[in-house]
Amino acid sequence: MRTANALTDLLAEKGVLLADGATGTNLFAMGLEAGEAPELWNETAPEKIVKLHQDFVDAGADIILTNSFGGTRQRLKLHKADDRVFDMNKRAAEIARSVADKAPRKVIVAGSVGPTGELLIPLGAMSYEDAVAAFVEQMEGLKAGGADVAWIETMSSGDEIRAAAEAAVKVGLPYTYTGSFDTAGKTMMGLDPKDLRGVASDVGEGPVAVGANCGVGAPDILSSLLDMTAADPDAITIVKGNCGIPEYRGAEIHYSGTPPLMAEYARLARDAGARIIGGCCGTSCDHLAAMRTALDEYTPRPRPTIDEIVDKIGPLRNKTASESGGDGSRERRRRRS
Ligand SMILES: [Zn+2]
Repeated sequence: MRTANALTDLLAEKGVLLADGATGTNLFAMGLEAGEAPELWNETAPEKIVKLHQDFVDAGADIILTNSFGGTRQRLKLHKADDRVFDMNKRAAEIARSVADKAPRKVIVAGSVGPTGELLIPLGAMSYEDAVAAFVEQMEGLKAGGADVAWIETMSSGDEIRAAAEAAVKVGLPYTYTGSFDTAGKTMMGLDPKDLRGVASDVGEGPVAVGANCGVGAPDILSSLLDMTAADPDAITIVKGNCGIPEYRGAEIHYSGTPPLMAEYARLARDAGARIIGGCCGTSCDHLAAMRTALDEYTPRPRPTIDEIVDKIGPLRNKTASESGGDGSRERRRRRS
């Protein structure tokens, strides 16, 4: 049996949880410049991070993600901040914790952990052990600042997911992980949604929840969700999709989703079996508030087909995993540990 933790307790109490919306998009709206590391704002503009979290809590989020996505030493090095990984992550968690603790209801602080940006051997130069050590360093800060769970997200590589999961176990945090299925229905490294849970299901007590975030558009991520909930109907599945359909304006991606569209996305996610539902790129507090209402007023409908998803929230921008074929075996091999 799994050791009790705040996230499983709240899932047991409420059944379905609303996670928050975009961090990057909303910080850009507050003045973050392209190329600037959002994590530095934990030090230089903590009041803006408080506001981001507070707005999400006010919109109804049950889970808020710390501003620490790029908080590994490999990512912070690009901004000459790799000398303070622990402090930066601790600060990120403390800021979120301060908002969660004064909320009128239970709010989970999820310690966001993104990819290091380095490829593991043999594709790149980073050893598996170095990856584990980098995630341990980050997660120790997140834990010290009061994070309830290590929220490993936007991952492409099975080995990197395992490294982060092992780090969470070493640090003593429960963990979740999500892949970004942005390449013909799979991750950039060829992981198929239906195989994602198996990547780290044997690490510690296993993940509390597994799922998808970011990727392409909201219809595409719901197709990944259908694959995951079909493969593991009883497992807890996360979906944190981008806000509507991506439209490319020159080099920039713009997301077309409106609050009513994201409300329908949330209902469809529920119909498809997700237990933790949130938004990624482009998702503002207005979108999130509409999703909150949709989940509160939800009445069950049959499991949707892809055609019904497309009818309700728009076209797929990418192939689905089953259309793109292949068996993803490159990523399915198991690491000895
Ligand atoms: Zn995103």
